[in-house]
Amino acid sequence: MNDENCIFCRIANGVIPSATVYEDEWFRVILDMGPASKGHALILPKEHFRDVCELGEIYASKVLQLGGKIGAAMKKTLGCTGFNLVQNNGVSAGQTVFHFHMHVIPRYEHGKTMVAWEPGHADPEELKAVAEQIKAGL
Ligand code: 5GP
Ligand code: ZN
Repeated sequence: MNDENCIFCRIANGVIPSATVYEDEWFRVILDMGPASKGHALILPKEHFRDVCELGEIYASKVLQLGGKIGAAMKKTLGCTGFNLVQNNGVSAGQTVFHFHMHVIPRYEHGKTMVAWEPGHADPEELKAVAEQIKAGL
């Protein structure tokens, strides 16, 4: 299903033009208008899903492989030496457009630091307790 008020539904389905890198029956891959690095792309399903928790089974089964394919093409053509697949869910996680999308961010030698966090500390007992908490919601 598409939502006519959703910008990514409109882009994914070609209603609004975009710099398209790839398209098939399920996805359109476009360049991000505010790239974190040269070639930063977004994988957009053509159907509307708010986030990964809603993502349909077919899309979920295909999106990682597509991320790998786009990343490999970037390495061949743009000279990047790696790439990040990033996918934000919820405002607190940095999601700003509420149509599922996966970022493919090329990484270059001596490029700026991105997608990094400072490791914290947790003792094994604490890890066990938190694991139990999460398990209770599955
Ligand atoms: P989020 O923060 O939700 O994970 O990522 C949204 C991304 O979409 C941002 O990187 C932003 O630059 C990009 N974006 C938002 N609106 C548009 C648009 O209309 N066109 C394109 N190409 N990118 C967009
Ligand atoms: Zn949408």
